[in-house]
Amino acid sequence: MAVPQRRISKTRKRLRRTHFKLEVAGLVTCPNCGEMIKSHHVCPKCGYYDGKVQINKDGKLVK
Ligand SMILES: [Zn+2]
Repeated sequence: MAVPQRRISKTRKRLRRTHFKLEVAGLVTCPNCGEMIKSHHVCPKCGYYDGKVQINKDGKLVK
């Protein structure tokens, strides 16, 4: 609510701001290596996606 700044005690202000926080969105664990990865992305560590290797260790696509 809009009230003069001095009317809000430090405690009230801080209590309200306990809900303000950053969150990392869309992270899941890789089913192959257990690393935290972005969902719907190829795992950068082991190259797995959709149950099989998609990217080699040298970063090339597997066909
Ligand atoms: Zn992985």
